[in-house]
Amino acid sequence: MGTEKANEGAPVQLQGEIFRLPLPSSEKPSEIFSNIVHQAQYNPHFLPLKFDQEQAFYATALSVRDQLIKRWNETYFHFHKNDPKQTYYLSMEYLQGRALTNAIGNLEIQGAYADALTKLGYEIEDIADQEKDAALGNGGLGRLASCFLDSIATLNLPAWGYGLRYRYGLFRQRISKEGQEELAEDWLEKFSPWEVVRHDVVYSVRFFGHVEISSTGSRKWVDGEIIQALAYDVPIPGYKTKNTISLRLWDAKARAEDFNLFEFNAGHYESASQLHIKAQQICAVLYPGDTTENGKLLRLKQQFFLCSASLQDIIARFKERRDGKGTYQWTEFPSKVSVQLNDTHPTLAIPELMRLLMDDEGLGWDQAWDVTSRTVSYTNHTVLPEALEKWSQAIIWKLLPRHMEIIEEIDKRFKDMIRATHCDMETKIPVMQILDESNPEKPIVHMANLCVVSSHTVNGVAQLHSDILKTELFVDYASIWPGKFQNKTNGITPRRWLRFCNPELSSIITKWLKSDAWITNLDLLSGLRQFADNVELHAEWSSAKMASKRRLAQYIFHKTGVSVDQNSLFDIQIKRIHEYKRQLLNILGAIYRYKKLKEMSTEERQKATPRTIMFGGKAFATYTNAKRVVKLVNDVGSVVNNDSDINDYLKIVFVPNYNVSVAEILIPGSELSQHISTAGMEASGTSNMKFALNGCLIIGTLDGANVEIREEIGEDNFFLFGAKADNVPRLRKERENGLFKPDARFEEAKHFIRSGAFGSYDYGPLLDSLEGNCGYGRGDYFLVGHDFPSYMDAQDQVDEAYKDQKRWLKMSILSTAGCGKFSSDRTIAQYAKEIWGINPCPVP
Ligand SMILES: *Cc1c(COP(=O)(O)O)cnc(C)c1O
Repeated sequence: MGTEKANEGAPVQLQGEIFRLPLPSSEKPSEIFSNIVHQAQYNPHFLPLKFDQEQAFYATALSVRDQLIKRWNETYFHFHKNDPKQTYYLSMEYLQGRALTNAIGNLEIQGAYADALTKLGYEIEDIADQEKDAALGNGGLGRLASCFLDSIATLNLPAWGYGLRYRYGLFRQRISKEGQEELAEDWLEKFSPWEVVRHDVVYSVRFFGHVEISSTGSRKWVDGEIIQALAYDVPIPGYKTKNTISLRLWDAKARAEDFNLFEFNAGHYESASQLHIKAQQICAVLYPGDTTENGKLLRLKQQFFLCSASLQDIIARFKERRDGKGTYQWTEFPSKVSVQLNDTHPTLAIPELMRLLMDDEGLGWDQAWDVTSRTVSYTNHTVLPEALEKWSQAIIWKLLPRHMEIIEEIDKRFKDMIRATHCDMETKIPVMQILDESNPEKPIVHMANLCVVSSHTVNGVAQLHSDILKTELFVDYASIWPGKFQNKTNGITPRRWLRFCNPELSSIITKWLKSDAWITNLDLLSGLRQFADNVELHAEWSSAKMASKRRLAQYIFHKTGVSVDQNSLFDIQIKRIHEYKRQLLNILGAIYRYKKLKEMSTEERQKATPRTIMFGGKAFATYTNAKRVVKLVNDVGSVVNNDSDINDYLKIVFVPNYNVSVAEILIPGSELSQHISTAGMEASGTSNMKFALNGCLIIGTLDGANVEIREEIGEDNFFLFGAKADNVPRLRKERENGLFKPDARFEEAKHFIRSGAFGSYDYGPLLDSLEGNCGYGRGDYFLVGHDFPSYMDAQDQVDEAYKDQKRWLKMSILSTAGCGKFSSDRTIAQYAKEIWGINPCPVP
């Protein structure tokens, strides 16, 4: 922490006083007004010639930031003084979205800021709309990390996030005739008003080099290249509390001494600043392509950079806080520090903590291992074999020679332990070991195995997923360490995902529950159940939905030029494009619907439930089949949306560039959302929770958190279809071997595409992946063919239910009412109690 270092030796109390000078503005609109003007006038970011919406946004954000920094300092001093055990959440991704509405909402100064902006001639919504999303994440995993930070702050827990400050976060998606195009998104183009650079929080991170062994046998990692990690803090305010925590993002910098003036003056500009260029690459993009050797090396560098800088910072803080209380003991480290790994991306924190403790602090192996394994816990987010991280031993040797030694030693000791104490498990060593040398040419390091062996707790993210971890993926570890495995069903923050993104529905809920306590105690939503048949509530509920649908229809028209019928059923699937999430199943269903509508007489058509089917999501740039799906959806859309025969009954829209702020418009406006992954493949899903919370009904499989959502809201309120997870392996075999004959409707939909109904693009490879017994593809690995008939039947039930608006509204109210469990406040309270061992530390 910067302030501590800067005031080294000064008593903490005095520092606290210095930072308790009054803020120039209070929460009064008139003072906010002058503060915004002050920010615009004296902030050197823009010429003072005009004060347009963009500048109004920056000035407003800077004014709010002052409020946040005040609270942030108070929180930090409070934690420092009380020295509670603290958790550090390590994640390669955070999908923060916009911050302004969230910050003034959490601080409850929304009204005051809205008034002040009105005085300046602006609507607060337009100003908030100027902000760029901080998209430092891909999808669910990154958004989860961001929801967690909101809940940690709200629950007054002493915990922080650590991540990387990518210059270009997730790409911006543009849709053209060719399908998806990726463009670099420079979220820092102007500047981010939310980050605070900490010039005094800098650590050196080493890469490459070699291990030196001293005469006493101690080992030291030396030489190689050194890059500096510089801290940027993003304040994260809790809701209705002073507690404001920090998301610390590391940026990479070369040292001035690494700039070769001699070379530069000789005209060799590139070689003069080589290390500066290399430093820039580290935080340039999230998930650089890793098909090349260089790409792999860069990703490993990013992961290590996050782990090393964060652990050095954590250790420095531990020593500082302990030093004030006499000397510290390393054995107390796990009672003061807990480190949570968000998936395997930060696995290198394990060997790095071991290295720091042994090589820098002089601990022996056993002591370092005891400290490390009592400090670190690991969250698994996937069971997909191709998504489980593996690194070649060679690349780790090259970049991190000391860490590879440590990993090998962990592996060796683990195997020795098995042989010594679990000899019945010896045959399982090949699947449990960390280092797989079955191909001696190319040994492989399994990061998930390293995490399981080294962590005190391993958790899945929904009950079904955690069960699969215990009974399949990690079954052998579970037999030796049954107590190590836990479930923590994901959650979402009710502030961003209901209170702020859907203010109309929020006020209705508050009105009927006679209190807004649900915002921090989401279980109270169950109080809506008693009004599920109330006609007055139905009227209010439906008018709130209509207002959100109207806003969404305007947004779609603005972004795509397609005008949609506001009285049609708004049906949506938004999430990363992936074969296991089965957008292909959805579009095949839509194609079949279109074909049938075409074949109907006008009278028959008039009985159909009109639908607007919306898709949104980004495909990874090198994921060919996912990009083909994006293209197909857009091609189908252009045919269907221009077919005047059926336009009153069907529209198909691809909403470009899905991200958090787009989600905040789409979710409140939707009525049916699709969560239709092959059972057993979606670890949890979190957008299913966002939709259900906003009264949007779900059509889905028994997968991830769908299972628990259905339990909570009642099975009558959920459109279920598809194979169950237990049956998937058997069905896959049958499908592969041609034992299963797909439904005629499925064949018809595929045939329609092949006939060229949606253009001449070659969809052959995509459609071939759906065939059972074929030499190519994966023999319909995702069971689209198997699930298609039950999916279509469930869609028929949706159409019927929508015709009965009274029934639909009741289901919608019961969806919201049943969502109490899916607050990330509940999830985080469980992590705090059952994994981290931390307690609330509220700022008085
Ligand atoms: C919630 C969210 C996700 C996760 O969606 P799933 O459907 O659970 O995969 C992805 N992206 C954004 C922008 C989100 O807000």
